[in-house]
Amino acid sequence: MSAGSRDALVAEARTTGTLAGLPDGHFIDGAFVPPAAGRFMDSEDPGFGRPFARFAAGDAADVERAVTSAGKASRGAWRRMSPAERGRILMRAAEIVRAEAARLAVVECLDTGKRLAEAEGDVRGVARCFEYYAGACDKLQGDSLPLDADHVGLTVWEPVGVAAQIIPWNYPISTAARGIAPALAAGCTVVAKPAEQTPFTALMLADILARAGLPAGVLNVVTGTGREAGAPLVAHPGVDHITFTGSVPTGIGVIKAAADNVTRTVMELGGKSPLVVMADADRDRALDGVMEAIFENAGQICSAGSRLILQRAVADPFIEALLGRIARLRLGHGLDDATDMGPVNSALHLSRIDAHVAAARRAGNTILTGGAICHPDGCEAGHYFAPTVVLARGLDDPIVQEEVFGPVLAVTVVDDLDAAIAAANATPYALVAGIYTADLGQAFRFARAVDAGQVYINEYFAGGIEVPFGGNRKSGFGREKGLEGLRGYCKLKSIVARI
Ligand code: NAD
Repeated sequence: MSAGSRDALVAEARTTGTLAGLPDGHFIDGAFVPPAAGRFMDSEDPGFGRPFARFAAGDAADVERAVTSAGKASRGAWRRMSPAERGRILMRAAEIVRAEAARLAVVECLDTGKRLAEAEGDVRGVARCFEYYAGACDKLQGDSLPLDADHVGLTVWEPVGVAAQIIPWNYPISTAARGIAPALAAGCTVVAKPAEQTPFTALMLADILARAGLPAGVLNVVTGTGREAGAPLVAHPGVDHITFTGSVPTGIGVIKAAADNVTRTVMELGGKSPLVVMADADRDRALDGVMEAIFENAGQICSAGSRLILQRAVADPFIEALLGRIARLRLGHGLDDATDMGPVNSALHLSRIDAHVAAARRAGNTILTGGAICHPDGCEAGHYFAPTVVLARGLDDPIVQEEVFGPVLAVTVVDDLDAAIAAANATPYALVAGIYTADLGQAFRFARAVDAGQVYINEYFAGGIEVPFGGNRKSGFGREKGLEGLRGYCKLKSIVARI
């Protein structure tokens, strides 16, 4: 990424409040097209609380066009193309993402509100994701089966067909890439529906893939609301697979819609992930981990470490050090390099976070810091919530049980590892879990006993695209990322011959 282009884009965004040349149509059959009904919506810059660009408000007619195009492409050129050639296209896409990283990151920063440095990290991850799956395209090999002398048996992995991607607003480009790249690598075609709060980078990704050589119809993006564009997509009989990333209530509706067509689903839902700090942990490293786990992206991360479980022997000094670090956090607009924590994504979401914390206060939990909406200088109309720590009155309190999806940390104090494990497993969610301890035996006992899709030891959010990711229980099912993510877009066929 050239520093010049980054600076120029930031300057343009600051002076005009937007960026020139953003797409405002759907991407269907290899080109940007206007919405069938001619309707548009505004996307907001949450840091300043004002609209910055318009996009297509799609509906069932646009979805129909996109699914038809994806179905045709699934049976056509894409199916016939060799896996090695598919891999070359994905690798070229990775290169273009790297070359255009500055623009993608500034757009993501404006659309989500996240800090530009975080958006730049997301975009680097997107390039790496396309690179990883580019290399996997021609390694999807099956097995030979041990039969008798008169038979030969083998298994082959085939693409599922048309894969729908329903994408949330907290990590728009990352979530789009982690679904689109393995789906394309497996030989599927895609219809993606980004969240109505953050539509632009998925459209830009589709344009990049077209320039990398992707045939028309292989990747389509329809923008619009969940009700008008998402619902017809997940209910469409031409869709063979759905990857849904979003909230539990919406996910339940999607599973029901999918059941009517017996469509396969992967569900990436919410979380209330525990982060345990034992008395023997390296305190500075654990503090770094906690700060990132709950204040990165203003806590709007499905896998945020939103429950801190502290061993009693270190609880008081750890909390004191944590509050000291929080006091130094600077809130502000994501484009400002001095900002440590940006806004939350919308006024509606801000009011939800505020309601969670107000209920916690009323219920007798102790607010140790924060606990209120705030207005950083120059960003008075933006959607900011102060970094908040709540000492929970018990494991059954909603502040421990419910996902807040904001910069709100619930603290529980326990005596020993067994109590930490019990506390970690005490919610309906099971997405990730973390532990900081100097005793690896203790760490692995925790890793085995905790119900979670992934466990982080001594570094919260450790790992990259190589590591399978997904949840259990109310956090969903199925896995994305890694080779598991690739197999999710395949169906296994067994072939047996009498010889
Ligand atoms: P949401 O469920 O409201 O929306 C998610 C997506 O679903 C959006 O694109 C939306 O337009 C679409 N949608 C809404 N109604 C739909 C319908 N009836 N049919 C089809 N699509 C529909 O979720 P949100 O509030 O935007 O996202 C926050 C939630 O997402 C949190 O609970 C968070 O934990 C979860 N999340 C999970 C992961 C993960 O990997 N597990 C990652 C990011 C976010």
